[in-house]
Amino acid sequence: MASTCPACGKGNIVSKTWMREFEHEGKTLEAEYTEDYCNACGTLMQSPETIRRNLSMRTAVIEESRKRSFCPLRTTEKLDHVDMESETDRIR
Ligand SMILES: [Zn+2]
Repeated sequence: MASTCPACGKGNIVSKTWMREFEHEGKTLEAEYTEDYCNACGTLMQSPETIRRNLSMRTAVIEESRKRSFCPLRTTEKLDHVDMESETDRIR
């Protein structure tokens, strides 16, 4: 699926996947990002599919970290929330 670069007309558009760090709720997380760029002039091509894919990778990493991070040392907010949920369960 190599396509010619619209910027220089010489290079091909290639996909590159790399790990990108981002901050979420004070934590540094890593998500896999894909970017399409020209292998001749380096112009970055942001296709809607690529953006959507990157966003969903990021969302998956955030959700994964939420599941793992029921750590009492993190935030009291989260603990309160958990307590409230179990109270509700008991009432039901
Ligand atoms: Zn190019």
